[in-house]
Amino acid sequence: MSARILVVDDVPANVKLLEARLSAEYFDVMTAANGTEALAISRRAECDIILLDVMMPDMDGFEVCRRLKTDPATHHIPVVMVTALDSPADRNRGLEAGADDFLTKPVSDVVLIARVRSLTRLKMMTDELRMRAITSLEIGMQAPERSAVADTGKGGRILLVDDRQSSYERLATILAAEHTIDVEPNPTEALFHAAEGNYDLLIVSLDLNNFDGLRLCSQARSLERTRHVPILAIADPENSTRLLRGLEIGVNDYLLRPIDKTELLARARTQIRRRRYTDHLRDNVQNSIEMAITDALTGLHNRRYMESHLATLAEQAATRGKPLALMILDIDYFKSINDNYGHDAGDDVLREFAVRVRKSIRGIDLACRYGGEEFVIVMPETDLHVAGMVAERLRRSIAGEPFAIHKGAKRIEVTISIGLTTLERKGEAVADVLKRADTALYRAKHDGRNRVVSQAA
Ligand code: GH3
Ligand code: MG
Ligand code: MG
Repeated sequence: MSARILVVDDVPANVKLLEARLSAEYFDVMTAANGTEALAISRRAECDIILLDVMMPDMDGFEVCRRLKTDPATHHIPVVMVTALDSPADRNRGLEAGADDFLTKPVSDVVLIARVRSLTRLKMMTDELRMRAITSLEIGMQAPERSAVADTGKGGRILLVDDRQSSYERLATILAAEHTIDVEPNPTEALFHAAEGNYDLLIVSLDLNNFDGLRLCSQARSLERTRHVPILAIADPENSTRLLRGLEIGVNDYLLRPIDKTELLARARTQIRRRRYTDHLRDNVQNSIEMAITDALTGLHNRRYMESHLATLAEQAATRGKPLALMILDIDYFKSINDNYGHDAGDDVLREFAVRVRKSIRGIDLACRYGGEEFVIVMPETDLHVAGMVAERLRRSIAGEPFAIHKGAKRIEVTISIGLTTLERKGEAVADVLKRADTALYRAKHDGRNRVVSQAA
């Protein structure tokens, strides 16, 4: 995991110092002497993390950060502000500008490396998601970047795990100004609570009585339902080494007590904004996967999916010695439905047909639209006899109830023909099974349509 770190500072000695430390940890370092240069490098997507000096002539670090975070092309790059100033007001100005963290000069090696490592992991994960989400963009889904730069980070759902009443009451009051907040004073309940609550952020105190807050953090990281929820740790200054350990196990950010109100709010917003962005990316990826395997008109699987999945089902059936039934269904005289009532009416019939198919099959059966008005249903662990009954039931469910077209203004009779067969016990090529079912279908058509023809293997 070799990340590219961009070090931005107008003083060459400062650049050299950070460059040397980062290179010693095998990070790839790039440098820029001013904000304009830094923005150009970032826009070309050449760096993973930016260490940004605050005091620079021309454009200061706050302005550079603000521009990075409002540009859809760069908003996702983590920014760490590095400064000689250390007043709460300066920290907060940086955080308000969207900075992910703030390091004070002289920068401690341990803190620097821990921070850069943790942000690297985050960046790699986001990049992976962005890359996959590009496909969904290409097929016309909304770009997550636009909503991400507009997101204020407010209105999140936060779970605060803290067993000190004076502490959690104060924190909850601060956070309630911008978010919905639940408090969990019992750490042994916290993981369960977090998994159930669909939170945007977990805030975990590491100063719990008789309980290791880091253990909770690492459990939250390994549990499926909380894996992607950001964690903000809070600790007393004497616990600060444990905070660094926290960054290693997946804590996203931390704060030292006494907690500054503005800083807490700013850090919470940053985490929540990031969480929403990556969720959005993840949704897009999920949707594009679904679109790639689904037929848009009927919502059934498409042919491509069926062909790859059928091979797997056939293999399973052969190795387990179980039967596998396959039928091809074809709507009778469908062309004349189009011709008589219009193409839209034909589409209505196809949609309603898919609804009825879904009602007639089990969850483990695979139904797909194989072509225009041709469908394939694959039924695992089903022999020819049982499959014949299912096919007959399906045939009746179509022929027995007219189909509504023209928005329900008219109803028409529709029938289907079905060709049915099973996979040979010892296993055979999927193409041969399809061929046999197709031959059976041809016979069903030839014999007068609206019927099921079975062909044993
Ligand atoms: P048969 O009983 O022999 O199956 O006759 P048929 O008319 O159903 O078969 P044919 O293959 O001649 O015609 C199928 C028609 O399905 C032709 C095509 O225009 C139509 N079709 C294919 N896809 C769609 C679609 O998505 N929507 C609509 N409305 N029609 C479609
Ligand atoms: Mg400077
Ligand atoms: Mg047809």
